Amino acid sequence: MYTNSRYYLALDIGGTKTSGALFTADAVLVDDYVYTVESQTFKGEEAVYHNSKGVLDHVIRHFALKREEIAGIGVGSPGPLDSKRGVIIHAPLMRWRNFPLVERLKADFETAVMLDNDGNLGALAEQRCGAARGLENVLYMTVSTGCGGGFVLNGRIYRGHGGGAGEVGHMSLDPDGPPCPCGSRGCFELYASGTAMNRMMREDMKRGVESRVFELAEGEPERISGKVLHQAALLGDWYALDLLRGEGRLLGRGIANLFNLLDPDVIVLGGGVTKSRAFFHDELMDSLKKYCIQQISGDSVRYSVLNDRVILYGAFYLVSESI
Ligand SMILES: [Zn+2]
Repeated sequence: MYTNSRYYLALDIGGTKTSGALFTADAVLVDDYVYTVESQTFKGEEAVYHNSKGVLDHVIRHFALKREEIAGIGVGSPGPLDSKRGVIIHAPLMRWRNFPLVERLKADFETAVMLDNDGNLGALAEQRCGAARGLENVLYMTVSTGCGGGFVLNGRIYRGHGGGAGEVGHMSLDPDGPPCPCGSRGCFELYASGTAMNRMMREDMKRGVESRVFELAEGEPERISGKVLHQAALLGDWYALDLLRGEGRLLGRGIANLFNLLDPDVIVLGGGVTKSRAFFHDELMDSLKKYCIQQISGDSVRYSVLNDRVILYGAFYLVSESI
């Protein structure tokens, strides 16, 4: 059935899950089929590699693809990484340090392979076919475990001097703030990420604050999550609503810094925390307008439409446009 043209494989290696999919040259995700497995994090660099390779093998078998039908493979991975050399510089979860991911995949699949980080691919995908389609200058930010980002400027991924552009989570907001694993202090993601919100909720539970959040979590710190926070907000719980409004103000302030610096057409927000946007979007916009010197319209902030598939689409565009 799929024998008359060439295809692109896309691989999304994430901190918890690894997914693969097949795309036609004109950006159709074939059969809407995405194969997903758990990432073998902490199991060692070879185990993670074989797990990732196995996802591609599975997709190839699923579609009974012949080697010559595969025009290339696009890969998204957490960084820092060197997309030019195709090397993962350091991914602690994967136990990858200076891991030559592109060289390994090229040897195993005998095809072109392109690699970039999640933030850049998210920006690329939303700009090419998602919430910012057709715009020239697009920022992308995910708010989940951490806060990652990427920039498409003048229609191209902006990687910066050493490939490190887009580290929006590490804008330092408070020089006296808590230390960040990156070596700095008071970084944006220490306050605004899903992880940060979970930590705040756990501290408040310990302090005896009353909220439906803690009832829904049945008093178990490990059951506190963005999901129970969202549920409590739906029930009108003051604590949950207050926490999410605070999140909106923080995001607005962070985004204002980015707008003041780059004056993009739009920013696209993705990641698990944005599922609760109904409870923080107004505060986000108020705060953005307050701290931003640029003209902000209601359309300046958009939300991802590609969601869980954003990295796969980005990986597809990365490799197909390079060939
Ligand atoms: Zn940091």
